[in-house]
Parts: sequence; C-alpha cells; structure tokens
Amino acid sequence: MTPTPQWLNGPLENRGGKLYFDGVSAEELAEAFDTPLYVISESRIRDNYTRLCNALTRNYEKIRVYYAAKANSNLAVLNILEKEGAYLDAVSPGEVFMALTTGFPPSRILFTGTSVRNDELRFLADSNITVNFDSLSQLDRLLKIKVPTVLSVRVNPEIGAGHHNHCITAGKNTKFGLWETDAVKAYKTAKAAGVERFGIHMHVGSGVLDVDPFVLALDKLLNVAKKVHDELGVSFEFVDMGGGIGVPYKPEDNELDLALFSEKVLALFKRRVKEYDLGEPFFCVEPGRYLVCDASILLTRVNTVKVTPFKRFAGVDAGFNTLVRPTMYGSYHHVLVANKLDAPDEETYDVAGPVCESGDLLAKDRRLPKIQEGDLLAVLNAGAYGYAMSSQYNARPRAAEVLVKDGKCAVTRERERLDALVSGQRVAE
Ligand SMILES: *Cc1c(COP(=O)(O)O)cnc(C)c1O
Repeated sequence: MTPTPQWLNGPLENRGGKLYFDGVSAEELAEAFDTPLYVISESRIRDNYTRLCNALTRNYEKIRVYYAAKANSNLAVLNILEKEGAYLDAVSPGEVFMALTTGFPPSRILFTGTSVRNDELRFLADSNITVNFDSLSQLDRLLKIKVPTVLSVRVNPEIGAGHHNHCITAGKNTKFGLWETDAVKAYKTAKAAGVERFGIHMHVGSGVLDVDPFVLALDKLLNVAKKVHDELGVSFEFVDMGGGIGVPYKPEDNELDLALFSEKVLALFKRRVKEYDLGEPFFCVEPGRYLVCDASILLTRVNTVKVTPFKRFAGVDAGFNTLVRPTMYGSYHHVLVANKLDAPDEETYDVAGPVCESGDLLAKDRRLPKIQEGDLLAVLNAGAYGYAMSSQYNARPRAAEVLVKDGKCAVTRERERLDALVSGQRVAE
C-alpha cells in the first residue's frame, strides 16, 4: 500500500516505490552521506514562510514573523530565513551569536530569555538586541548596565496550551512571563528610567492546533496593553503573540486552519487596538515548529530485525541521541520504509535505536511493510527540535545534515567524528 496521501505533499514524493525529498532520492542521500542523516528541504522552508506571511498580511499590513531559532539553528536554515526577510527570536546569547553570524541585523532580533545572567544582559546591551523581559529583577539588572531604546515585556496571559505538559508556557504552573500587576510595574520602571519605545509579548505554548487558545490569550494580552497605555501613557510599537502554531504529526491529525487563524486572531487584534486606542502597532508571531518541522526528514538504516515471543523490533542507527522527541514527550513521528513505499503494510514493529535504554524507541506498534536488514527508514517531521535536541549520549557522535532543493543537495553540517567525543576534555594530573 502507498503511504497515506497526505504525507506525499510538500517535498515528499513517491517515484516508483522510492522516497524522494525535494527532488532527491532518499536512498542516494543515504549512500552518499551515510546515516543517520537529517535532510532539510529548502523549498519547503520558503513555502512555509511565504504561506504564513501571506495568510497574515491578507488581514493586516504591519506584520513581522520572528523565526524561533531554537527549533532548528542550522546556519543554512537561518540563512534561508534571513534572505526571506524574517525576524528572529533568540532564547540564549548563543542563538543571538548565530543570528548575527548569519547576517541578521540586531534590529531584527528579539531576545526572550528566562533566568538570564548579568554577563548575558551585558552582551545583549552591547550588541543592541531588544530584550523581552521575563522578570522584574532581570529588568532592574539591565537598567543598571544600560537604558535600552526599545524594550518589551513577556506577559503571562493566564491561558496556556501545548502538545505536552512540558510545552505549556503560560498559566498558573509555568515559570514564564510576568503576571499583570508585575507587567504594569515593569513598564512603569522602564519608563521612569527613560525607555521610550515599547513592545508587549506572550507565548502560550507549543504544538497548538486550535485557534481558540490563541484568541483567548491575545485578548488578555491586549487587555494588559490597555492598562499599561491608560495608566502610564505608554504606546506600543509591536504586539507579539509568540509561537506555538502546531503541525500534524499523525496521519489523522488536521492542520491548523491558517486562513481561519489569521482571520480570527487579526479581527480581534484590530478591534481591540481601535477600541483601546493603541495606535498602529506591528503584529508579530514567533513560529519555530511551523516553519521547519515538515521541511526535514531523518534517514536511518535498519541494522537488525529481531523477533521475540512478544514483539518485532526493527533496530536502526538513530536513537534518542539523534531524535529525542518520542522518548521525551511520547511524540508520534510517522515512519516510512523509504525503499518500499508501494509494499503493503504486513507486520507490526517497534522501531528501536542503538541506545542502551528501553525507552529508546522512535516508533511503537507501527504497521509497516516487511522490513529487512539494510532497509532505509524515513522519520518524518524531524525538522523542529530534532537535531537541535540531539546529544552525544552513549558516546555516539552527532548525525550529519544535508540541504536539498529541486534535485540538488549540499552538506550543511558534517557528521561528527570520534574525536568530537574527546574534544575539550583532559585527564587531571
Ligand atoms: C519556543 C518558543 C517559540 C516557538 O515555539 P514553536 O512551538 O516552535 O512555534 C516562540 N517564542 C518563544 C518565546 C519560545 O520560547
């Protein structure tokens, strides 16, 4: 049987039973660059970015799309989005450094950190990066270093959402953002210190496929903006509703309706901005996953097929050291046998990695074509929080990354060699 047609959109293609990605054969990529291998489609990243921008600008002109770099900070990915004109959301000085290295001007970078050190604040001040504050102490500490020209506050809109508890970043139980009273205090302090230009921000969580949580939280955010405006006379250059737009991972998942999202969110935005007399702020979003997730697959080779009295395991060369999401969040990633797309699904497999832990499964109880050793598996939707969360656990060097576009390919990150495992270490006398 052919895989569910929905998986054969975008860069995925079935040519005579063989998987192609953005015009390049998965088998040829595995032959040329070995496995495990992350393959990134340039065309898909550009399509995702353009689709989102178009959907938003249809309802409001002043739009900014900040790419949340933590989802995938490969330089090639950053470079593509820089060329598209994206802004960038950084959560660490390292991401700011990567963005500046890529060529993002400081004016297009927003830093949203939590638990930030003084030397990090100094680095941000010296680099002229706009900071989005996550605590009153962080603001006080920055003001002692330098009074910035622009400043934003991350508000906890009291409504969170996300695909897993670890990914809900607003509401009662999260460390993120300032509650309303403290948010007002922050703007008051900043204004008194001489800050003149302001933004306001929230981020409700990750992997959200419904429009309603965004609308509810944005309403709360704008309500806080109104308070700040009324009490302090502050006006806002931008209102940032954060990231979190989900993507379908399971064949039966629906996509977020982007047109509806844009329509509902921006209708509320325009109504409240007018009602509250907030001027004409930029409307910003910070997608990470949405831009890069389905633009990448992970190729992994089958080493072993093992049948026990209870289970059938396909042992592959990528484990949770390579892709941690299934182990960390219980996430589903669709798996295809890249060299047998037309074969019927005949057996049920657990796809297991090489790590010495029972939790090292990329997929559980999957109906797949009969797998033989040497077959090539493709793990879909691997572009967000894939390579970025990989590790050297079990002393395995990290995978390579290759960029593909319209039938062409180029290595964008070399496979780590064994010497990467000892780099920087020394044995004490
Ligand atoms: C992680 C993060 C994002 C991106 O989240 P996605 O779910 O990948 O869209 C955006 N903004 C902030 C502040 C984040 O921490």
